[in-house]
Amino acid sequence: MKPTSYWLDSAPDFSAPAEGVPHGSTDVAVIGGGFSGLAAALSLARAGASVSLLEAGPVLGEASGRNGGQCNNGTLQDFAGLCTKLGVDQASEYYRAYNRAVDIVESLAESERIECDFHRSGKLKIAAKPAHYEKLARTCDALHAAGVDPQTRLLDKAALAAEINSDAYHGGFLQPLSAQLHVGKFGIGLAERAAQAGARIYPDSPVIRLERDGSARWRVVTPRGDVTASQVLLANGGSGPGPFSWFRRRIVPVGSFIVVTEPLGEARLDSLLPGRRSYVNTLNIGNYFRRTPDHRLLFGGRARFAVSNPRSDAKSGTVLQSALARTFPTLAQARIDYCWGGTVDLTADRLPRAGERDGLYYCMGFSGHGVQMAVMMGQVMATMIQGKSVANPWAELSWPAVPGHFGKPWFLPMVGVYYRMLDYLQ
Ligand SMILES: Cc1cc2nc3c(=O)[nH]c(=O)nc-3n(C[C@H](O)[C@H](O)[C@H](O)COP(=O)(O)OP(=O)(O)OC[C@H]3O[C@@H](n4cnc5c(N)ncnc54)[C@H](O)[C@@H]3O)c2cc1C
Repeated sequence: MKPTSYWLDSAPDFSAPAEGVPHGSTDVAVIGGGFSGLAAALSLARAGASVSLLEAGPVLGEASGRNGGQCNNGTLQDFAGLCTKLGVDQASEYYRAYNRAVDIVESLAESERIECDFHRSGKLKIAAKPAHYEKLARTCDALHAAGVDPQTRLLDKAALAAEINSDAYHGGFLQPLSAQLHVGKFGIGLAERAAQAGARIYPDSPVIRLERDGSARWRVVTPRGDVTASQVLLANGGSGPGPFSWFRRRIVPVGSFIVVTEPLGEARLDSLLPGRRSYVNTLNIGNYFRRTPDHRLLFGGRARFAVSNPRSDAKSGTVLQSALARTFPTLAQARIDYCWGGTVDLTADRLPRAGERDGLYYCMGFSGHGVQMAVMMGQVMATMIQGKSVANPWAELSWPAVPGHFGKPWFLPMVGVYYRMLDYLQ
């Protein structure tokens, strides 16, 4: 079993010639080489700006290269609940923003000719308990009443049989606009196109200091060299290294984990998942699964409320393997070929944050729902940095620090117990 991301293992390496050490002067310094930073760098370079992208590790080495590859439309939050909290208009605006973000990923892959297996598979949210199905019905009603996503529909337990061959679920809610893609190929493709358009990409260059010189330009300092820049975009996920403690107090880094089986063959997978969708169950500490282009089953989830590191990933892999066997008993003996983890950048309300603070542009807090939104916000921030007007759906959100959070998520085990209890009781 490889302790690495299947997506990165099955994507080509980033092949642009090495830029050497960070140096010189640039219009924009982008900090972070995930989807948001790469989409911003590509957009800026295509607009004629000079761009230096500084990435602490390898390009795509964190969440963007380690996720489940679901490019889902609609909000992460239950839409009916979001309407109660924020009102129908605001909730609808957020939902539509995610729809737009999926369209952007699709059109970017097409216009940049990035082969990444993007397809509109649809997402099926499956009820782990009968009461959860009633909640899904309320969500479906609310979406239809608001006219936001009329294609969504409910599937009762009988109809579910045409979608998934498992007795574990009590009905489902289908969002046909959701997509899947090979995130390794997509992300490496973005990096290649950005480099071809003139962006200078520096892997292994963690930003350790940001200074403003007398002329109001930024000096962006890494252990390998510095660049000076007129503008800086922080696209680092919020919880990584560097002088960003204001952001770290507002982002909770939570581990999320994935296992991928041996190739199972198309026919065997069709018998288990005839609907060929992305599947997500309704538990707080739940699971999601999809097939890969080479007919493996990818099975992920939070598994444990813990940070990601090699030991933690392996422990979580064992938890996921048991959940996989419970969901699909015929796969209990399937070989696991990949097991890995990554960090999700959660905000307290699970809505992203993006804007400008003290002259520093930022977008982060995608809260496990960023394959589409990180790409869109990278483009939005690139447009803002050029001084053009653009709709930023998250502009008006306040952003207080998470109480008691000083950068290290000491409270994660307690949060885990809380959600486990909710899953037991509700
Ligand atoms: C296991 C897992 C499964 C997921 N599944 C899904 C899914 O199926 N669908 C979905 O929509 N979302 C999913 N997500 C979330 C999604 O992957 C993220 O929201 C998205 O990739 C965020 O992109 P980003 O560019 O903001 O951050 P990242 O991809 O984390 O990129 C930030 C980069 O900044 C770099 N960095 C940090 N600090 C510094 C510094 N000081 N200097 C230089 N560089 C720095 C990091 O090394 C990193 O490469 C998942 C996440 C995980 C971890």
